Amino acid sequence: MALQTATDFFKNLPPKQCTNCGNEIDEMHDCYTHQCEKCDTEVK
Ligand SMILES: [Zn+2]
Repeated sequence: MALQTATDFFKNLPPKQCTNCGNEIDEMHDCYTHQCEKCDTEVK
């Protein structure tokens, strides 16, 4: 089968990284930010 399940799709994604400090971003965190929770808080 060529189609991937949603689970496989997300499993193949690289972890999001903070654009500020390079830490991996918790997937539970806001999808619209490119910074980790710590840096996002500091910026604001
Ligand atoms: Zn950060």
